[in-house]
Amino acid sequence: MIYSDFHGLKLSRLGFGCMRFATDPATGEIDQDKVQKMFDLAIASGVNYFDTAYPYLGGKSEIAMTKALKKYPRDSYYIADKFPGHSLNGPVDNIALFNLSLQKCETDYFDFYLFHNITEWSVKIYESEEYHIIPDILKMKEEGKIRHLGFSFHGGPDLLEEFLTRYEGVFEFVQIQCNYLDWTLQDAKRKYDIITKHGLGVWVMEPCRGGKLAVLREEQSAKLKKFSDTASDASYAFRFLQDLPNIKVILSGMNEVSQVEDNLKTFKEHVPLSEEERNTLSEIAESLKSGVPCTACRYCCDGCPMGLNIPYLLSCYNDYKYSAGAIVGMRLDALDQDKLPSACIQCGQCTHACPQSIDVPKALMELTEMYANGPKWSVTKKQRGDEIEEALHMKD
Ligand code: SF4
Ligand code: SF4
Repeated sequence: MIYSDFHGLKLSRLGFGCMRFATDPATGEIDQDKVQKMFDLAIASGVNYFDTAYPYLGGKSEIAMTKALKKYPRDSYYIADKFPGHSLNGPVDNIALFNLSLQKCETDYFDFYLFHNITEWSVKIYESEEYHIIPDILKMKEEGKIRHLGFSFHGGPDLLEEFLTRYEGVFEFVQIQCNYLDWTLQDAKRKYDIITKHGLGVWVMEPCRGGKLAVLREEQSAKLKKFSDTASDASYAFRFLQDLPNIKVILSGMNEVSQVEDNLKTFKEHVPLSEEERNTLSEIAESLKSGVPCTACRYCCDGCPMGLNIPYLLSCYNDYKYSAGAIVGMRLDALDQDKLPSACIQCGQCTHACPQSIDVPKALMELTEMYANGPKWSVTKKQRGDEIEEALHMKD
């Protein structure tokens, strides 16, 4: 296993993402035996970082992860959990919510704790005096219940720069969506540079873009096969990230034993990409780019009677086109109901204003459909907020 050094900790560069455990399609229950098998295999090969979040798998991820780690000493692994500020319907008892996660994980502390899903929208909740999230969570850190504080980020580079400047010295790491496609498509390079400039560690989620880069189209995969008959498509996506020195942990949401085995092979040693391999990945990334050519000029926004953030929604639309959708669902989950693509009344004002003549109403209609049919854990902000309120109520 290759490791990174983070403030004296030895973190496995391959982190186990607990968002995609295999579930029984009929009951929705997690296949705990499979989780155990995957964890045992990963731990035996040196994986020591496990990442969960309050809402993953309808609140069941924290519990399944804990069960599978139970037989290992608490100080032999690191766990990361997240505060679901983006999912709240209104202010709640933040400390009770934090304690509920501790209780589900059967621990007294989190090694790593993140504000979940900071975007241009959720940041208003996180920073709101009424919600009081940041001071409450900082108190948990002062009390030693959080060892390292960070946040996961789905917004643009400008917000990232502003946020890190505002909270200089508060956070130690930032988790971003980064892979060889998003390096240019979603400004991941700029985000990596900003985080590095602020002296923080970069954590990566979606290294294979929800599986898209793990199973390439036949003609794209053939380009990689000329380098090796046996290396998987996914291994190139991971090696691209291994070459970036400030990436400390690369989270992979593994749900099959074969994926664990393949990833362990890739993380056994760091084999830098050759120039030819790197160029081929750039070519593949270019061939994966399709969708609407929105330049985010915002000419359409003033005239929208529903006040929708059209470029943001179109970037979610493009994301759905390129990837499996779970992470896009999370970007949309952060929006209020009246700002979702379903709020579009199809008036067509935006298309008239758009220099690229993008058929926005059509794209938003399609986006509404893709969001509605998205993965199970992609529930609406309102539903998730209701679930949190119910859980806190039950605890009382
Ligand atoms: S078509 Fe939809 S997005 Fe476009 S201006 Fe009308 S309401 Fe807004
Ligand atoms: S006017 Fe067109 S290109 Fe500009 S933000 Fe709106 S949809 Fe995108």
